[in-house]
Amino acid sequence: MYTFPHSFNSARLAICVGAFTSLLLFVSAVFGKEQNLSTNVATVATTKNCSKLLPDEYQGQTLDWSHLRAADLPRELKIFPDQQAACAMNTAICSEAESTKIIAVDVDVFFKDSAIWSKPEQLQPYMELVNRYYQQARITFNFRFRPIGELPAWTENRNQLSIIFAAAMPAPAGKVADAFGNLPAGKAVFNDVLMNRPDRHANPYFLMGKPLGHELGHVLGLAHTQDKALLMTQGTSPQNALDILPEQALIMRIMALQRFGGRLDPVIACH
Ligand SMILES: [Zn+2]
Repeated sequence: MYTFPHSFNSARLAICVGAFTSLLLFVSAVFGKEQNLSTNVATVATTKNCSKLLPDEYQGQTLDWSHLRAADLPRELKIFPDQQAACAMNTAICSEAESTKIIAVDVDVFFKDSAIWSKPEQLQPYMELVNRYYQQARITFNFRFRPIGELPAWTENRNQLSIIFAAAMPAPAGKVADAFGNLPAGKAVFNDVLMNRPDRHANPYFLMGKPLGHELGHVLGLAHTQDKALLMTQGTSPQNALDILPEQALIMRIMALQRFGGRLDPVIACH
């Protein structure tokens, strides 16, 4: 659940054009009118110039989880622990999760009835920011925009990680939150109210970039944490950052591999 944007003071941002290439190629196939944009950015991407415009602390230092065993991860960091992989039954998956290999996960993206989000290029900076700080966990998301006609029912396609941009879609419990991530359904929802706060962030990328990663964290098995520097804290504070604990990284890596078709990928666009 996400109830309010977190604060972030840096004006510097990263644009890592290489990571956009596959996304834009798909976008151009689905949204023909974006062809010119796709071509232009793809041309830039061939330079492989991953400019470092994010603050240094967000340059994606990989965490060290070598001292952790997947079978011993703390329950309090997990949302719905009973629904998570049992490493005794999934030794190969948990062993791969414990490695430092990059895990790539496909994320289907839908525009439902949002009055704010309707074009893929609106979200590219936020998705790039998410992929940047998820390098802490060596997880990279491959965002794939899908036609709304392919949106599955809430209880369908539960092993396909999906995110939905909606006007005011209620959570399963009935409340319309700013945003929420739901592990059982494998889906996260971002409602328009999230962007309609009167006191917006000074950093326009951060406003959406933080909730995106936070809700993906829920869908990948993470519960809320008290430490306000962590991505998974709830609420807003000057201490808010984009930090992920090694234990949280390992939980998400297991979920990505076991539940959402994550694949070990030796290539990462920028790091
Ligand atoms: Zn939350």
